[in-house]
Amino acid sequence: MKKKEILFIHGTDYKNMTKKLLERANLAGAIPHRDTKIALKPNLVAAQDASNGATTHWELAAGTIEYLKEHGFSSILIMESSWVGEKTDRSVRASGYDKVCREYQVPFVDLQKDSYTECDARGMKLKVCDTALQAEFVINMPVLKGHCQTKITCALKNNKGVIPNSEKRRYHTMGLHKPIAHLNTVVRNDFILVDNICGDLDFEEGGNPVEMNRILGFWDPVLCDAFVCETMGYRPEEVSYLTLAEKLGVGSADLSQSRPVFVNQPEHTGQTISMTRRVEKLAGYARPKDACSACYGSLIYALDRLESRGCLKGKRPPVCIGQGYKGKTGEIGVGQCTSCFQKSLKGCPPKAVEILKFLEENWK
Ligand code: SF4
Repeated sequence: MKKKEILFIHGTDYKNMTKKLLERANLAGAIPHRDTKIALKPNLVAAQDASNGATTHWELAAGTIEYLKEHGFSSILIMESSWVGEKTDRSVRASGYDKVCREYQVPFVDLQKDSYTECDARGMKLKVCDTALQAEFVINMPVLKGHCQTKITCALKNNKGVIPNSEKRRYHTMGLHKPIAHLNTVVRNDFILVDNICGDLDFEEGGNPVEMNRILGFWDPVLCDAFVCETMGYRPEEVSYLTLAEKLGVGSADLSQSRPVFVNQPEHTGQTISMTRRVEKLAGYARPKDACSACYGSLIYALDRLESRGCLKGKRPPVCIGQGYKGKTGEIGVGQCTSCFQKSLKGCPPKAVEILKFLEENWK
């Protein structure tokens, strides 16, 4: 039953949100014993602050370590390797993980310098770093964001950070999708803590963050990535590594069977990061009034899908969104707050894939 859970928490106090979400998930109850070797795997792809939309906020690691220590676990490390062309230690400093490791006395293992072993990953020979293979419980901590080649990147693709650099180059020659799916048959995904705070529109290295101010929890990496597809306006079938991972038995993409667990409700927190010109251009089609970040972010992702299809042309009425429209009338709006509008999409917050369909059918 736990495998089907999707945990949601909204807000801007990311460290305490993490602790609350892990408490609600009862993560401690899933870890075999107090001496279990626990590894945290954030996404530190490049030397950037998390506000750029590429890397996992350090507060998620800090909250996770505090939670684990408070529950009696002490064998904890953080592991990661940045992408080819970036030194991991530069990324660690830029994203604040050096301070987290110092403060909590937790080692950081740079997987670019780790030894590795070749594994049989359901018919594919793939090399995996030994620290990742030796971990007995892995908390995968990806950023929910877009990717120019694979459309989305989250739990399954984040594990590309536990392989040696030579292998990363080889994955690209194999088209990425197949090796990513097979890799996830040999690496652990015991819990997935998703940074859905401000992931990028479509680039792994960030640059166009979309503010959502949300942290998510999953027990199944395939369910996680299927949810991410819908959050960003894609159907899971559009991402080959996801469907292949499901066929290989890594998990289930069946969102109809998922069980949402809301630790709190979305609320209007105000804009905390500034929009880039590209996101601002998309936001120009919306008329927000006290919109919750998760709702507004979903609309931005949907508008981005429309633009990439060449459908954002001509004059249209603005799409209203936000709590300021509760009980008000108008032409077109998304989210349950606009339920009195002539055309309104239900949901609190609706997913980008639903907004996309609604706008395609009703926004003329
Ligand atoms: S529908 Fe209203 S309350 Fe719900 S997430 Fe959107 S803006 Fe917030």
